[in-house]
Amino acid sequence: AKEEALRLLPARKLLPVWAGKDAILEGIEKNDTVIVLADTGSGKTTQIPQFLVRSNIPCEAPRIVCTQPRRVAATSLAQRVSTEMGQHLGGLVGYTVRFDDRTSRGTRLKYATDGALLAEMLGDRDLEAYDVVVLDEAHERSLRTDMLMGFLKDIQRRRKDKYRAWKAAQASAKGKGRAQENGEAAPPASNGRPAVEERDPTELKIVVMSATIDAKRFSEFFDDAPVLYVQGRQHKVTVLYSAEPQPDYLDAALKTIFQIHKTYPPGAVLVFLPGQDEIESLASSIQAYLPDMEKTLPSKGSLLVTPLYAKLPPAEQAKAFAPAPPNTRKVILATNIAETSVTIPGVKFVVDCGLAKEKRYHAGTGIESLVTESISQSSAKQRAGRAGRESDGFCFRLYPEQVFNSLDKRSQPEIQRVSLTFALLHLLAAGQTDVFEFHFMDRPDKDSILFALLTLHGLDALDKQGRITSVGRQMASLPLDPVYARVLLASFAEGCPREIVDLVSLLGSKDQLLINTAATRDLAHAARQKFVHRRGDHLLLLNILRAFEELDERDERKAWCRDNFVSYKTMLAVLDARKQLRERVERLGLGEWSQSVGDEDEPVLNALVGGLFANTALRQEDGTYRHTLTKQVVAIHPSSTLHNKKAPAILYDELVLTTKTYARGVSSIEPTQIRSKAPSMFAKTMR
Ligand code: ADP
Ligand code: MG
Repeated sequence: AKEEALRLLPARKLLPVWAGKDAILEGIEKNDTVIVLADTGSGKTTQIPQFLVRSNIPCEAPRIVCTQPRRVAATSLAQRVSTEMGQHLGGLVGYTVRFDDRTSRGTRLKYATDGALLAEMLGDRDLEAYDVVVLDEAHERSLRTDMLMGFLKDIQRRRKDKYRAWKAAQASAKGKGRAQENGEAAPPASNGRPAVEERDPTELKIVVMSATIDAKRFSEFFDDAPVLYVQGRQHKVTVLYSAEPQPDYLDAALKTIFQIHKTYPPGAVLVFLPGQDEIESLASSIQAYLPDMEKTLPSKGSLLVTPLYAKLPPAEQAKAFAPAPPNTRKVILATNIAETSVTIPGVKFVVDCGLAKEKRYHAGTGIESLVTESISQSSAKQRAGRAGRESDGFCFRLYPEQVFNSLDKRSQPEIQRVSLTFALLHLLAAGQTDVFEFHFMDRPDKDSILFALLTLHGLDALDKQGRITSVGRQMASLPLDPVYARVLLASFAEGCPREIVDLVSLLGSKDQLLINTAATRDLAHAARQKFVHRRGDHLLLLNILRAFEELDERDERKAWCRDNFVSYKTMLAVLDARKQLRERVERLGLGEWSQSVGDEDEPVLNALVGGLFANTALRQEDGTYRHTLTKQVVAIHPSSTLHNKKAPAILYDELVLTTKTYARGVSSIEPTQIRSKAPSMFAKTMR
């Protein structure tokens, strides 16, 4: 491990942030909060937290947490940084993400998702487990990072007051000659995190790190905190536009990739696409044309296609970072995950379709869906910049320059695009009494706040005065979206908590669980027919888990997974998530835990309606489904086992907006189930 760390050191020292190391440490030492601004790939995320571990700011042995909007970034960065420091993961350097924790007593630097850090606040209101909080990727303006920013301002003030009071008390105690020297380090706590109560109070340092030039707003938000600019080493990137708009951008991307391969020098190609479906589709067309291309361009070598999206299993993701074999050009097909949060070595060409899949919430209807939308100019620039990390590069925009000029300058912060039920429930659980008073960097609109409050009231999380209820507190303490937290609570009354814990653990990884590549889709479909349940996708998932658990031997289970196109690794992750969730549920004492309904379906569906009543649609006489409340037409997604089947009413996990509004993760229910489970205010509008 030490040798590997030594081997990496020279390259690290060449990263731009190393030139600014002293200035950065001095800035952090002298100020409560600093903003660090540097191009992607400068070494912000991997190096600056390491500098801090080795410093003594603001105390002898500072404990540092660095937040990431994405789970994969948190885990892979922790791995990378522990390698750089010559340590094993989970020792000095660790990570915490939902359902997975790799930290120990000795952990001093932790990468955590912004959501995991928010969850810690419920048990450690002032984040006293840390001396420095590094908010990374602040420019992404993720909902949870924005929430942390709001909380941290108050936390910093409270910690300062507490620290000063403690200092004053110490001084006066010394003055009276009763001073007790206490130079020993506090013993670590048994929960894996450094002891909170046994350490002397410290002030909290905040470091906000951002990749784009819009640092002014962060500085203003944190009372004019100083901005440290790190000069990057961006090489020249030549941007080329398509002459015409490209409605079939996947085809345009395919042609561009082959054109690059034919006429440009070696170097990896990074292609930005909206989502997994588009990535898989382009990957299979490249494979289809590859033999022809190899025949016509034998001297050019081959192409290696590696997908990269958040839900891809880690082992597959690692392939995108690994060097290509000799005489082979790597083509990485990525979502906007590759825009700023991870850096792939060797990229010289970027192909940008100009689109991204984003969650968007319609304030009028309260419906949240995944929508493919045009990116902002600032995203397009970030994407182009990825081609110039190591040498001069090229960016091919699959849209005309006029289109670029018409794009929004900046992306809209997530808090203004998504449902606020999670955010508001969390604010209230963390002790904020008036959500309208919270320090948001960009305030969400009033209607969205009101709608979220109404939804939370419908979920029994808030009383009529908008105060959090005991149900609401229980929901906030579960590591689940409020809707699924409510489903879990409802399952106790239905006698099926075990089934629902199984189900929500499965839902957490469902996109990685079933292997559906273009090549094996039909085989997989046939193999999994035996698990299909007439009531739909939720019970199908439970059937798959049950069949898996009937086998005892590891080898049997692995073979079973292969035969049924189920990811064995993901299944292990599901079991692990379930274990953690079970422990949490038991600890919270939410109800009689050991109940199980065996093969009965109705209780499971009833529990689902108990939280998902706003995700339901009724079949009309003409055969379409309409949303129960808004009457909007909803179609069943082709990936659902209920596609082309008739159900009197449906319940779904999410909506995806493409050519139609599609429901994904669908179960068939009875309209009476909605009426009896939905809260009265919703039931009224249903008739
Ligand atoms: P920033 O946060 O400023 O975007 P990072 O600290 O993430 O920069 O990355 C700095 C450099 O470290 C990158 O340019 C890349 O070369 C290298 N690097 C980061 N993560 C990895 C990894 N997992 N594998 C190999 N190299 C990496
Ligand atoms: Mg970074």
